[in-house]
Amino acid sequence: MEKAPIHNRTDILVIGSGASGLFFALKTAQKRPDLKILIMTKSNADESNTRFAQGGIAVVTDNNKISFDKHIEDTINAGGGLCKKNVVEMVVHQAPDRLKELLEFNVEFDKKSSGDWDLGLEGGHTQHRILHHKDISGSEILKKLLIQLQRMPNITLVEEHIIFDLIIHNSRCIGAYYYHNESKKIESIQARMTLLCTGGSGQIFKHTTNPVIATGDGVAIAHRAGAEIKEIKYVQFHPTALFEKDKNPYFLISEAVRGFGAYIVNNKNERFLFETDSRGELATRDIVSRAIGAEMEKQHCEYVFIDCRHLDYEKFYQHFPTITDYCRSIGIDIRKDLIPIVPVAHYQCGGIKVDMDSQTSIPNLFAVGECSRTGLHGNNRLASNSLLEALVYAHQSSEYICDKIDSVSFLDPNESEGIFSNYQYNITLNYSEELRNFKALMQETMTALFIKNTNPVEAKSVIEEILSKITPLFQKDTISLQLKELQNMLAVAELMVKEFLENNIKARAQQ
Ligand SMILES: Cc1cc2nc3c(=O)[nH]c(=O)nc-3n(C[C@H](O)[C@H](O)[C@H](O)COP(=O)(O)OP(=O)(O)OC[C@H]3O[C@@H](n4cnc5c(N)ncnc54)[C@H](O)[C@@H]3O)c2cc1C
Repeated sequence: MEKAPIHNRTDILVIGSGASGLFFALKTAQKRPDLKILIMTKSNADESNTRFAQGGIAVVTDNNKISFDKHIEDTINAGGGLCKKNVVEMVVHQAPDRLKELLEFNVEFDKKSSGDWDLGLEGGHTQHRILHHKDISGSEILKKLLIQLQRMPNITLVEEHIIFDLIIHNSRCIGAYYYHNESKKIESIQARMTLLCTGGSGQIFKHTTNPVIATGDGVAIAHRAGAEIKEIKYVQFHPTALFEKDKNPYFLISEAVRGFGAYIVNNKNERFLFETDSRGELATRDIVSRAIGAEMEKQHCEYVFIDCRHLDYEKFYQHFPTITDYCRSIGIDIRKDLIPIVPVAHYQCGGIKVDMDSQTSIPNLFAVGECSRTGLHGNNRLASNSLLEALVYAHQSSEYICDKIDSVSFLDPNESEGIFSNYQYNITLNYSEELRNFKALMQETMTALFIKNTNPVEAKSVIEEILSKITPLFQKDTISLQLKELQNMLAVAELMVKEFLENNIKARAQQ
């Protein structure tokens, strides 16, 4: 991406360049060419969870009431009784319009030779409704949105600029502090409206499908600013990540592979999932992940397997070229070899609490996509509903902001004096051994809490201990980017542990 200048104020600040940030920016720029939109992103423009999405996006394409009702029902059934019905209905009913817009942005999804959509099936879905671009759906969406972005003169995208904290004045969000990769300093930017589109937090755990940028920054930043965080302990573990010791992130074997007919088997080549749920491989992710975890304990194994050997190889390769090629690159021939798989941290179902316009509890601050908690997913997201949520809430916030932004002004220059200059740190890129060890300890602790159900009181004391050791480091003039990132991950870990403990107290009170 070409480097663009940053001015110290912008009408709208979008933090993050995944599906939610880009879709919001494009829609808003089209509707309001008079507004300046600045997207700041932590790494390269295309480094995000969005880029890794394989399976696709769930959309009802036949305009049939029964199909809409079934998508709503499947989403609610997956969410463990915690989904907000009005949110689910809004998202499912808006899906065809958001799809239309994606197609207008030249995003392509696979079709059959008949010309009809080639709709995939995934766990928890009772109908084929997943639109996909081979097994690289997210990367296709991202690529096409980034191309569109270059045509919009009122959008500026800057890479490798990391948001550190929000600026709150008179209880409203008025901008953010960020790391400027050229000055190597923390600078400030004023914005009339700010959106957190910062994605998930998989890196808090030892093994995850999420790329290294997924460190929960948005949730931590919003929490520090006083925003409400909700249901953050609902982390979805994906049952079928390819087992490769010490890999980060883990490569995903898409859920669509099971939808295509693959089996999950143990080390004795037995299909064991039907013992837990009559849907077998097509049960929801939480159920399949737990059943795999239990089987691994029972068989004393580090992994189980996904078996594609009985499937039509030509058709499989047509649908899943990236997965097939990746397996081959590490010596697995899916025609004759089993693929070792393991459940790993995949998706953050809760996050920054937002309303149906994506507004957080802080005025002029919005959260969109995986960093937000809309009420769509409950405690377990239905597969392929997250890209959809990102698009629908990007739309909702765009409509709201276009309508309301004219009533929000920049601060008067007299008023702003002093507000934008009180975040003084020099930044170093050195990553100390000590920080690495703290991070590893946090990841071990959080993984044990979620996978082995260890006592949250123990997890709390470990997280607090690490926090007490890193807090004095912020008294110095120079801090490292990794320290800030670790502070964010620990903040999210602490929020998760707190919810676990509150849950235990509630459960005891009900006994
Ligand atoms: C392997 C994998 C497969 C998946 N498959 C599917 C699927 O098939 N279907 C589906 O619906 N969902 C899928 N998901 C989930 C889905 O991809 C994500 O939930 C969705 O893409 C999130 O989009 P987002 O815009 O909210 O966040 P992201 O796409 O993660 O974007 C976050 C952005 O924020 C930036 N950022 C973060 N912190 C900062 C900071 N401090 N300062 C500046 N920028 C920051 C990042 O650099 C990034 O650009 C999958 C996820 C993974 C990991």
